[in-house]
Amino acid sequence: MPRLSMEQLSVEWAALNQKFPAQVRQFVLEFCCEHSLDLAQHFYSEMLQDPAASLFLSHDQVHSRLQGSMQRWIAGLFAASDDEALQRLIAEQKKIGEVHARIDVPVHLVLRGARCLKDRFVELLDQAGTQAEGQRLAAARLLSDTIDLAMEIMSHAYSVSHDRNSRTEEAYRLFAMTQNIASEKERQRAALLDWENQLMFDQAVGLQAAQLPRIHASEFGLWFRHKGIHAFEGTAEATTIMEIMEQVDDTLLPLFDEQPEQKVQRLRELRDRVKVIRFSLDHLFEQNNALEAGRDVLTRLLNRKFLSVVLTKQVSYARDKGTPFAVLAVDIDHFKTINDSHGHEAGDRVLQQFATLLINSSRAGDYLFRLGGEEFLMLLVDTGADGARRAAEKLRQNVAREVFRLPQEQSLNVTVSIGVAGFDGHPDYQQLMRRADEALYQAKHSGRNRVVVAQ
Ligand code: GH3
Ligand code: MG
Ligand code: MG
Repeated sequence: MPRLSMEQLSVEWAALNQKFPAQVRQFVLEFCCEHSLDLAQHFYSEMLQDPAASLFLSHDQVHSRLQGSMQRWIAGLFAASDDEALQRLIAEQKKIGEVHARIDVPVHLVLRGARCLKDRFVELLDQAGTQAEGQRLAAARLLSDTIDLAMEIMSHAYSVSHDRNSRTEEAYRLFAMTQNIASEKERQRAALLDWENQLMFDQAVGLQAAQLPRIHASEFGLWFRHKGIHAFEGTAEATTIMEIMEQVDDTLLPLFDEQPEQKVQRLRELRDRVKVIRFSLDHLFEQNNALEAGRDVLTRLLNRKFLSVVLTKQVSYARDKGTPFAVLAVDIDHFKTINDSHGHEAGDRVLQQFATLLINSSRAGDYLFRLGGEEFLMLLVDTGADGARRAAEKLRQNVAREVFRLPQEQSLNVTVSIGVAGFDGHPDYQQLMRRADEALYQAKHSGRNRVVVAQ
């Protein structure tokens, strides 16, 4: 999708403003400021009647915060007085579109909200009756065109964000599906060998070239073309394998009919090509490849890449099924001093042992992320805030009791601070993360080695 540039958008927005006399713009600005509360309230009372919309709006916090930001948004649309302010305004619309994508608000609800605001604006304008008809018309047009432009920018940001989310989701599905890389590798090696054996047998018993089994259609070919290629996307080896498969099927196998006297030579060529495929495949599996790209190299825990997918899924699952879940923001205390006094390698060892301890403290459905450095996130499924607090407390005690082994027979103890936040129904997972972070911050500032639960 082409990116709408900031300049292009500011030019368009400025051109829109130019179409209306300054006094009309001034009037609309003042009118919106004066009636922003009424407009926002009208928006709410209308939208809450729609069950689908109310799913997104009925959360207390959304209500209290959004009502305020809705008021600021309406007045803000007309307040930009120079180019810089206009660019800020555009950036704000983009951000709103991104939030909508993150919480998965259907576009038609956003458009309905816009319609509802326009409608109320005209109603209020008529009621006020202070303007001449021509003025009223100009004001209504300015409002309508401006809201449309804002919607256009939001929708664009929405679809870009939405596409990106779907791609990450796709990658995650693949990742989850092929978690067991060792067995996948063996399975595919065996499938390649099966095809090769079948081909050798078939040509030995004298089948025509056209009847020889094609690598594309073999188990291996199917797997590689539909799954492997996505998992290893963009690597040189993947391209090589695709090219060789094509050569084998389209060029090499048809020659098996033409020059029977050169058969041995053909077989050699074939064997060499298959060797290259096998070699490339091994290489792909061994490298730190795309199947592994969701894992942190040091600890083998999930990295940030899939945080958004996992949390978005959890939020929508919890909202659908009415089940709880919670996140633990875990940070090792004074980790820097471990590095400083024992060296970076010792620090790495502590992180690895710590990750193992986290794994042993979690259940099969839970998720563990290393967010960076010595910061971890634990997502506890089917667990409310109270259960999460108990799990966090147990983890804290287990860490404090654990003896961390360092190189050269040394050992040490570490402690962690944990911020706990239970899912409270807010559709945006970043709110949940923020609450867990704030609780962690409190745990740090009230002495470390403790658990704080977010309110
Ligand atoms: P606090 O109790 O406030 O959390 O103090 P802290 O020292 O743990 O926190 P701070 O964020 O100041 O320092 C984190 C340190 O973690 C800094 C950095 O050197 C270290 N670190 C980050 N990533 C790695 C890593 O991969 N390996 C090692 N050995 N150290 C790391
Ligand atoms: Mg720390
Ligand atoms: Mg830290």
